[in-house]
Amino acid sequence: MTTQEDINMLTNMVELATKELITMQNILISMTKILIQQKDGQGENALGKNALTVEEKAKLLEEGICPDCDSKTFDRGPEGGLSTNIRCVDCGSKFNVCPPYFAERI
Ligand SMILES: [Zn+2]
Repeated sequence: MTTQEDINMLTNMVELATKELITMQNILISMTKILIQQKDGQGENALGKNALTVEEKAKLLEEGICPDCDSKTFDRGPEGGLSTNIRCVDCGSKFNVCPPYFAERI
């Protein structure tokens, strides 16, 4: 037996679950940003000029946007282990990325 009341209750449950998922997603994004910042701190020492800023990394890893020209089109190069080499089609900038943790210029 399915009444309108049942349907309303199920709809509310789905809405609540969706809100919870969005909250968890935001928490994950925040945690990812913290991880990227931590990695950036180490990266600057180890990688020098190849290191990306926290903002550049977030843009590249979270939004898939080239930090140099805002393009969203990349060529994928060779993959080694967990990381992938990508090249921006529009400006030619090359990056080695391992989303969501790591990115550097190459
Ligand atoms: Zn570019």
